Amino acid sequence: MFSGAIKTNTEHLEDGELVTVTDYNNNFLGRGYFQHATIAIRILTFIDEQIDQQFFNLRIKNAVDFRLQLNLLRSDNNIFRIVHGEGDLLPGLIIDYYNGVAVIQCHNIGMYSSIDLIAKALKNAFGGELKAIYSKSSDTLPERVITEDKYLFGEVETPHRAVENGVFYNIDWKTGQKTGFFIDQRENRKKLAQYSVNKRILNTFCYSGGFSLSALKKGASEVHSLDSSKRAIHLTEENLKLNKFSGEHKSIVADAMEFIKDIADFDIIILDPPAFAKSRTKRHKAVQGYKRLNAAAIRQIKPGGLIFTFSCSQVVDKELFTNTVIAAAIEVGRNVRIVEQLHQPADHPVNAFHPEGEYLKGLVIRVD
Ligand code: SAH
Repeated sequence: MFSGAIKTNTEHLEDGELVTVTDYNNNFLGRGYFQHATIAIRILTFIDEQIDQQFFNLRIKNAVDFRLQLNLLRSDNNIFRIVHGEGDLLPGLIIDYYNGVAVIQCHNIGMYSSIDLIAKALKNAFGGELKAIYSKSSDTLPERVITEDKYLFGEVETPHRAVENGVFYNIDWKTGQKTGFFIDQRENRKKLAQYSVNKRILNTFCYSGGFSLSALKKGASEVHSLDSSKRAIHLTEENLKLNKFSGEHKSIVADAMEFIKDIADFDIIILDPPAFAKSRTKRHKAVQGYKRLNAAAIRQIKPGGLIFTFSCSQVVDKELFTNTVIAAAIEVGRNVRIVEQLHQPADHPVNAFHPEGEYLKGLVIRVD
């Protein structure tokens, strides 16, 4: 609920306070967390119910049951998202699962104030399966909130080994980006693997090497992993050691944009940059960034090669992203076909009433 939609004076309210929203006739509309921000209230429920332990027990059990229904907890896969904000009717709450450990990230103050209820609900939902719960909200809450990243239950040595579709990863939620791993690319890594046999692949913006490892597991002949962060390349190399795949691998610390201008002979290029735009005002610049990056890859790839290109900027929607890639192809003047349309996986669900929850989109294009 935007601040402009509220008639009542909200000055006296505290950040994170639980508030009830009514219409002009005092009819109940919803209940949620207040915060002094443009989005002033994050609605938790549209029925007149208490926001208590039972509320969180039900929402989190429901989220866990859904992931089990998706068959994401198996002997060859124990990495998945347990709660994806509005997509699980818990706005501002992210919980990721790494082989028995839940990492909680709160994006609003109210949710953070309920973290003990959330931790207990997780324990209830998983039973003995859960070894530890780590709270990591210092990066995602406003600076005025004092938070400490710490274990709320149990403790596990990091990096912690977990497995995604048969590929092993060392995951460190304490020092890694986000909750330690980009779970949202799981199905797209699997898709890449299908095309990878005997191929020469360049994985740019590789972070901990997810696309590289999935390709090598399937039989890619050679993979080059590139990231501007030395730490990311170190993570990729550690993960390579863990898996012992036979294909050749090369690590590159460089700026992707600069590097791509001079490459040759790759069958597949992956472009998975960080969000270029975090707000609508930055959208125009972001689009130009995507166009430049994609144009460079389209120009340099082998005839018949594939480009897996992504955008995780929420303000750049699917249509705008597709048009941007098309504009890049027009600029380069090579014929490009859209082979596949990619998106975030099912454990990152989009609430039908919150279409803004759709943020990750991608295309596989074939360049003639
Ligand atoms: N594809 C990854 C996730 C990418 S996250 C995966 O599957 O896990 C984005 C990555 O881009 C980060 O690791 C960040 O260090 C890197 N990055 C940011 N700017 C970059 C640049 N200009 N050139 C290369 N890498 C960059």
